[in-house]
Amino acid sequence: MDEKHKARMARKKEVVDSAIAQADRDKGLLLVLTGNGKGKSSSAFGMLARTLGYGWKAGVAQFLKGRRDTGEEAFFCSREGVTWEVLGDGFTWDTQDRDADIATAVRGWEVAKKMLSDPSLHLVVLDELTYLLNYGYLDEERVLSDIAARPPMQHVVVTGRAASQRLVDAADTVSEIRDLKHAFRSGIRAQPGIDL
Ligand code: ATP
Ligand code: MG
Repeated sequence: MDEKHKARMARKKEVVDSAIAQADRDKGLLLVLTGNGKGKSSSAFGMLARTLGYGWKAGVAQFLKGRRDTGEEAFFCSREGVTWEVLGDGFTWDTQDRDADIATAVRGWEVAKKMLSDPSLHLVVLDELTYLLNYGYLDEERVLSDIAARPPMQHVVVTGRAASQRLVDAADTVSEIRDLKHAFRSGIRAQPGIDL
């Protein structure tokens, strides 16, 4: 039994080692974190922490719908190497005025585009960008071509629900976080440190 297990693990290790040996290229990645479950933005900020851990620079553009003061902003925005831009907030997107929202989105994208053309930024997080694409506030074609035109080693993380097929197609890594359960539905309000 033990021998059998050992042999199986050895075979598995061989397969994994050969897959690792074959993945020998470097590239600036486009990652998309989507789905209805919790964990999209917090995963992006995990990669931000990793990046800063190497002493590299990063930019964060937050296109938030229902923004409040967040723990991540308090923690990261004053750190060396971080450019942190809030490009819309709950109030901005609640104008019920589509033209005003589009103008805000377009202005915000200009700021994000600066990050995407700055080769000193190792990572750019475009938090909640999918909503602006899905509402048609930003032209998806332009956004995708601006992302594609970034410096070749720059990584980009896009978060938000309902990522479009085109965004998924353009991405290198896509995770869809499934909602199995959320405390909010049991009447628990957003908890600082966990949800914001
Ligand atoms: P997080 O920032 O916690 O990683 P997220 O980015 O995956 O969450 P968003 O849709 O951006 O999810 O939602 C932000 C806020 O809504 C967070 O407070 C989060 O806990 C909460 N939330 C996320 N998913 C759900 C859900 N399925 N039901 C209720 N609230 C949710
Ligand atoms: Mg989020």
